[in-house]
Amino acid sequence: MQRARPLPDRRRILKSAALAAVPYALLPGPRAGGRTPAPDYPLAEWQPATPANYTAANRPATHTVDLVVIHVTQTDYSGTLAVFQHPRKKVSAHYVVRSADGYMAQCVHESDIAWHAGSWEHNTRSIGIEHEGWVDQPGYFTDAMYERSATLTAAICTKYGVPKDRAHIIGHHEIPGTDHTDPGPHWDWPRYIGLVNSA
Ligand SMILES: [Zn+2]
Repeated sequence: MQRARPLPDRRRILKSAALAAVPYALLPGPRAGGRTPAPDYPLAEWQPATPANYTAANRPATHTVDLVVIHVTQTDYSGTLAVFQHPRKKVSAHYVVRSADGYMAQCVHESDIAWHAGSWEHNTRSIGIEHEGWVDQPGYFTDAMYERSATLTAAICTKYGVPKDRAHIIGHHEIPGTDHTDPGPHWDWPRYIGLVNSA
């Protein structure tokens, strides 16, 4: 049961009136700095990474976004969120997609630089999407996961003007110098790119 939404009381109304006179950036609370505790992608649940695991930025003003990097987690969905929330792990991604149903979390705002590619240059220019599963277990790559992830990638590409092709939607293994193999040989790239283009 959700509690009924309280009616605005007098104090609240006075506060609203006061806010109109205060420069927005000076306000305290979760909106300070222009941030909201809400996902950029409305179908994702906001599950923030610790600020210790990403670099605050103001993309695309500060850095052009021209890549989407596809990952596989090598751990489960909740374990991935826990890693991103652990300040000593020094890793994060913008989104995590759950295997069974394609449900997704957003952990880092798209305007910020997540630490997922293992390369600062590639981190600055990309959105990172993690997919729950293991590279050698193709059963984790479900229809729901492909479809909902592709819809997310399509929205990102449209928003930032990123071409919906394999030159701009890449695997972690394609980052120069990486020793990571994800998303691995079972990831169906033709299917995924097709879904992105038909989303
Ligand atoms: Zn990866």
